[in-house]
Amino acid sequence: MKEIKSGIKMKKLKKNSRCTICKAKGEKEKAIIYLPHHRLTLCKKHFISWFEKRVEKTIKEFKMFSTNDKILVAVSGGKDSLALWNALTKLGYEADGFYINLGIDQYSIDSKELALNFAKKIGRELHILDLSKEIATIPQLKEISNRPACSACGTVKRYYMNKFAKEKGYSIIATGHNLDDEVAVLFGNTLKWDIDYLKRQYPVLKEENGFIRKVKPLCKITEKESALYSFLNNIDYIEYECPFSVGASSIEYKEFLSRLEEKHPGTKLQFYTNFLKKMYPLLNKEKEKKEELKYCKICGEPSYNEICSVCKLKQKVEKLVNTNYNINM
Ligand code: SF4
Ligand code: ZN
Repeated sequence: MKEIKSGIKMKKLKKNSRCTICKAKGEKEKAIIYLPHHRLTLCKKHFISWFEKRVEKTIKEFKMFSTNDKILVAVSGGKDSLALWNALTKLGYEADGFYINLGIDQYSIDSKELALNFAKKIGRELHILDLSKEIATIPQLKEISNRPACSACGTVKRYYMNKFAKEKGYSIIATGHNLDDEVAVLFGNTLKWDIDYLKRQYPVLKEENGFIRKVKPLCKITEKESALYSFLNNIDYIEYECPFSVGASSIEYKEFLSRLEEKHPGTKLQFYTNFLKKMYPLLNKEKEKKEELKYCKICGEPSYNEICSVCKLKQKVEKLVNTNYNINM
């Protein structure tokens, strides 16, 4: 096993392996990677073009967007979001970045710097939203709401991403979720037979009722492939995880599924694509009466309740500030 970055290991190639595509053209470029689930051995140049073609194919397959769309990429500073931004730009899409400073100590400082450096490198705009100015940082919200950090984080990220994209005239929000992320979520939801979540697990969430269309163009790219793509393109990304991710069940599922993939290459891709092909249509066969969506009485954003979750959180923050409660604001 060869390590690229962040402990991501690639299978060792046999000595003198040649690139499958080069070989077919009568060239003799040395291979750098073997993709067992695609039975492909590729050199640097052909891996990069394979990766970008695969992203393009996924965009077309799920009718995600076209070159007429203005895309906002949710950038975390990690390998997936930066690889996605790089690939979309190279494929000719108009894609800017959106970074939310979550205020998670050194993790946020480092990831913001890497995101800014990358934006400069590709010459695209990176919008930055400071959560501490909008509401409060994630560590503060964790304390105030008495909820796990990731739950508050997910709520505010979704809210501000959608609000910002609308205000600035973007038609699409693209996130860097990869195949491993999607398979881990699918596995977790299947273990619990969480039908409501399974019904919504699709790489495109249509625009409706004040929500911008959300897409996942890396849903058929593995974590290793996205790490290698970033590495080969000299993309500097944050190599350590957010401190709040420790102990997440999705990490355990990922480890388990990767062991399965080692033994049976192609398992992850098959699990995911067959779900989309065979199970997803069945789950969504009957048009259910959707829960009525309202608009938040305070901010006007879409919400299932009179007041949306973010405004409720804001109210809690204000209440604590007014009572002089010490939450290290
Ligand atoms: Fe937010 Fe949790 Fe992800 Fe950290 S691990 S960025 S807290 S969702
Ligand atoms: Zn609101």
